[in-house]
Amino acid sequence: MKAAIIGGGFSGLCCAHEMERYGIQPVIFERKSFIGEPVNHVTSIISISHRPVYDALKYYKKQLNIDIKPLGLIRRLIHHSPHMTSEIKGIHGYLLKNTADADSTKIQLLSQLKSTEIRLSVLGDCKKLSNEYDYVVVATGNYAEAQELGAWQEWFKGMVRGAVVQGDFDPEALIMWINKDYLKDGYAYLAPFSRSKASLILVVSDVNEREVDHYWELFLDAENIRYTIIEEFKLEHRAGYVYPLRIGNTFFIGNSAGGLDPFLGFGHFNAAVTGVAAARSIAAGLDYNRQLKQIIKRNLEMRQFRKVFDNMPNKDYDRIITAICLPGIKQLLYHSPVNISKIGAFLSKFILQKDKLGR
Ligand SMILES: Cc1cc2nc3c(=O)[nH]c(=O)nc-3n(C[C@H](O)[C@H](O)[C@H](O)COP(=O)(O)OP(=O)(O)OC[C@H]3O[C@@H](n4cnc5c(N)ncnc54)[C@H](O)[C@@H]3O)c2cc1C
Repeated sequence: MKAAIIGGGFSGLCCAHEMERYGIQPVIFERKSFIGEPVNHVTSIISISHRPVYDALKYYKKQLNIDIKPLGLIRRLIHHSPHMTSEIKGIHGYLLKNTADADSTKIQLLSQLKSTEIRLSVLGDCKKLSNEYDYVVVATGNYAEAQELGAWQEWFKGMVRGAVVQGDFDPEALIMWINKDYLKDGYAYLAPFSRSKASLILVVSDVNEREVDHYWELFLDAENIRYTIIEEFKLEHRAGYVYPLRIGNTFFIGNSAGGLDPFLGFGHFNAAVTGVAAARSIAAGLDYNRQLKQIIKRNLEMRQFRKVFDNMPNKDYDRIITAICLPGIKQLLYHSPVNISKIGAFLSKFILQKDKLGR
């Protein structure tokens, strides 16, 4: 069987890895001259956002056969809203290195591939490849192919501005900020590479390249952040819904399948799940939509959550940050297997309905 994967990012590599297990030797077309992340950053996988899965890396290993070593554990989650700060201790997930170094997530996975052919510096053309190959997997990390095939519905359009900074950090702490004054309805976070290096990321909706610079400056000033910046980048950030997820012999995976969660823009988990699911559909005939039922549902719930969050004033952000620290709520949210996106979506629906009636 001939299978082509367009994009050698995380989802494409996961897909190739699973295809190999079924005896398929796929060809990966990668437009860059190397495999690995073009912008150095730390990826966080927070267990609260993938319930019922509690430990994502254990799930990768047991259910998806993907074995990757993290940078470390997240043991402190610190949230800042305009007037409140909360700190939740415990094991909250993992920090992963996303660079092109040997110990980065993608290179760890690449080194486990045995028979996949990788063609670097080649743009994969979906239409052409779908005529030449039995199956094509679109893993380009963006919406372009799905949009061209009429399968993309946009949910979130914004910009990411990020930096690698030097300073003095707790290597087990993930720090997040929400504040309408300088982030609109976006957010910022700091995730450490080590004690002396961290990834600082800002995500803002409905802004262009110049406007995001303005918010970046506001953020650094407001939070009095004075770290030494050693690398910087800006990226477009789009989240959306893809339907259908398979068109003829073409499968969408990762961000190209709408895998970025519309609440925090996290997509690592969904990239792994969709990549492996597409390989299983191709190799073993499993129903692709059925395998993705859970993550589609969760993304729809997160979307609901996002709508309410976007309309909240700063004082509600303070209330949320206060509430998550209350003993019973903290226990329920962070230390029980309760499905947060489900509850969040239910409450969000209720709030949206109430707002509509109140107007
Ligand atoms: C700065 C940043 C921070 C993030 N932080 C987090 C986080 O903390 N937690 C989390 O869960 N997620 C995070 N994410 C999202 C997560 O990294 C992505 O959801 C995940 O990597 C998606 O994998 P993918 O395979 O779809 O895309 P990618 O990993 O982006 O791979 C796409 C690949 O396709 C290649 N490509 C594109 N077009 C073509 C073409 N036509 N032909 C050939 N090759 C092509 C690209 O060069 C790239 O190598 C972050 C993303 C960024 C950018």
